[in-house]
Amino acid sequence: MSVVGIDKELSVYESMAARFDVAAQKLNLDEGLYHYLRTPNREIIVHIPVTLDVGRLEVFDGFRVQHSIARGPCKGGVRYSPHVTLDEIRGLAAEMTWKCAVVNIPFGGAKGGIVCDPSKLSPGELERITRRYTAEILDYIGPERDVPAPDMNTDEQTMAWIMDTYSMHVRHTVTASVTGKPLDLGGSHGRREATGRGAMIVADQALKRFGWKREATRVIVQGFGNVGSQAARLMHEAGYKIIGVADIAGGVFNSQGLDIPKLLDYAKAHRTVQGFPGGESIGAQAILEQDCEVLLPAATESVINSKNAGKVRARILVEGANSPTTAPADDILFERGVFVVPDILANAGGVTVSYFEWVQDRQGYFWPEGMVNERLKHIMVAAFSDVVQYGEKHNVNNRIAAYMLAIDRVAFSIKLRGIYA
Ligand code: NAD
Repeated sequence: MSVVGIDKELSVYESMAARFDVAAQKLNLDEGLYHYLRTPNREIIVHIPVTLDVGRLEVFDGFRVQHSIARGPCKGGVRYSPHVTLDEIRGLAAEMTWKCAVVNIPFGGAKGGIVCDPSKLSPGELERITRRYTAEILDYIGPERDVPAPDMNTDEQTMAWIMDTYSMHVRHTVTASVTGKPLDLGGSHGRREATGRGAMIVADQALKRFGWKREATRVIVQGFGNVGSQAARLMHEAGYKIIGVADIAGGVFNSQGLDIPKLLDYAKAHRTVQGFPGGESIGAQAILEQDCEVLLPAATESVINSKNAGKVRARILVEGANSPTTAPADDILFERGVFVVPDILANAGGVTVSYFEWVQDRQGYFWPEGMVNERLKHIMVAAFSDVVQYGEKHNVNNRIAAYMLAIDRVAFSIKLRGIYA
């Protein structure tokens, strides 16, 4: 099923595979390893029976794909959407493997999803769907196996239900079984802002390369959920000029800069940024084509594709969302000289602080927010530098450089471990 404004010219998995192929070829990857890493380790499909509030039984499809455990337990979000497909989850699971390797944390990649429309479900129905999904995949998850986290349309409450269901089955509380939990249940300070903060840190690093100041940098953000709203808030506080913001209902634009604190209040009250009086109305797709220095897509996949990539006027693209750009659009952006900070680097702040949360839960010792943010910055700055230097050394764009760096690290771990037979 297609979503308004999104061109599914290549699916998320196909785009991932196309980039993987280029990177693998440049790395001269062994043919056996090529097939091993291009395919997930395990794909789980579950059919979740749930009694709705009206008393009717309905069955929802759910997925969990585990791409690799070469470098540690699997890690990845769970998304709820009527449009989610196994193919999308498969692509996103592989991207999680590459993302964890790019920031050099000891996890492999996974992703999960349930085909449902959360806006049409009551909190009770969502809780029952979440608990039964957890029970269906219980044998395959856990702190040493696979650690779920929030993603589109799932949140701290969803993680609390997964953690409780898992804990009830194993008969003791296992806070390290999920990340992105509420603070009172073993969550980490700084996790809520982590993806947006990480995106700002890499934007700062890109600015340094251009010799630009934050105050003279105009930013457009598509998506005003967890990632987009936190990125806009932190970047506004840091001095960036946020001139455009959009969500699924529409957008708002002001070339003089939007009042982000007021926009956050407006969005909280109206559940959308559309209609905010501090700027002009603009479409959620049209906003991607406005003149700016930094474009930060933080909504959903494939919004920048071969149809509109030629119209992107930003100089720097910071991919807050997962797979916002299709593989054919990569070449167009590259030809136009857009400096792309690819998703597996730009939005890795979330999984990095998830890693911190998992470490804190396992130690039962919690860090102050300043320490979380400082360690996040250290990792993001190092990963940015690793990717850009790798690209310069091998004469490839940042996306292929990030893939090459990640595949190299995962392949090296597999070679060290050997293949169990
Ligand atoms: P969210 O559900 O909190 O917010 C999504 C936002 O995007 C909403 O404002 C929604 O209205 C908007 N949106 C959805 N479809 C749109 C469209 N077609 N056009 C314009 N706006 C649209 O989700 P989130 O957690 O902020 O995640 C956003 C993206 O970032 C996803 O791709 C997700 O996989 C990725 N991501 C999230 C995290 C995290 O920590 N939450 C970490 C890494 C990557």
